[in-house]
Amino acid sequence: MFEISRRDLVLGAAGAYAAFGLSKPIAFIGAAEAQSSAQNFRKYKVGDIEVISLYDGVWEKAHDENFIKGANVEQTKAALKAAGLTDAHVPVPFTVIAVNTGGRLVLIDSGTGGGQAGGPKAGILAESMVAAGVDAKAVKTVIISHFHGDHISGLMAKDTNAQMFPDAEIIVPAAELKWWTQSVDAIPKPRQGLAQRIQATLPTWKNVNAVDGEAEVAPGIRAIPAYGHTQGHTAHLISSGGRQLLVTADATNIQALFVKNPEWQAAFDHVPDQAVETRKKLFDRAIADKAMVAGYHWGLPNVGTIAKDGNGYAFTPATT
Ligand SMILES: [Zn+2]
Repeated sequence: MFEISRRDLVLGAAGAYAAFGLSKPIAFIGAAEAQSSAQNFRKYKVGDIEVISLYDGVWEKAHDENFIKGANVEQTKAALKAAGLTDAHVPVPFTVIAVNTGGRLVLIDSGTGGGQAGGPKAGILAESMVAAGVDAKAVKTVIISHFHGDHISGLMAKDTNAQMFPDAEIIVPAAELKWWTQSVDAIPKPRQGLAQRIQATLPTWKNVNAVDGEAEVAPGIRAIPAYGHTQGHTAHLISSGGRQLLVTADATNIQALFVKNPEWQAAFDHVPDQAVETRKKLFDRAIADKAMVAGYHWGLPNVGTIAKDGNGYAFTPATT
């Protein structure tokens, strides 16, 4: 019944409220718009632990026949459309998680570093942190899932590579550190630049703690090896008071494509078949354990429940 563009709706909202029987204006802003402006964070409780999802912008990835093994561009567009997203490009959002646990502020992943990765619409994490009341200076621990640029660039200043969290403990998966610090010649060409940046930074920092395999890395947070997306890619299980949240990082890329179709293989997966196996294993575990799940590239709200849905899975966001 509202045959009116979103722009008109936004511009007209101030005067339109009376027509809806409201006593004061409300923002008539579509979900996508709201995400890029007013609501750049969400807060959740996992038992006694507070979890805050922090939006770091979006990469509007151009369509590319080589992006997904298992789906062509037409199928990709259809899946985006079916999820109510634009099909003009693939919208890949970034979402860092902050955790208040045992009196310490922890970040899981560090974001795009003000858009050092992820294109011109990435890099609003600092603003989202301010809006959510998360003080970057109070961060005691940064837990890294894997070393792709959209997850580690927030650790280092653009150009100088100076540490952004020199006083925090930085916890990285040992397998990930090992892979990226091997001889650069053994690393595929497109990833050599990133490997060089990693080799010039992380191994030289005194506050980096490489953790091997499954281990508790902060109060109530366990590292869960989830290899495949990268050789050391690691998920994190947050547990408190009988509740669990499995932070799956990049076990999948965006939900509309890869949660629904877990066998589709994004070009970002280093070991694609292992990545498929890992995402199914993680989701099946979450279903069996009645754990909530979160994904780094799922957009807000990115915390919720997962269920089997045909050959794939369906994500239902939690209400905060
Ligand atoms: Zn990523």
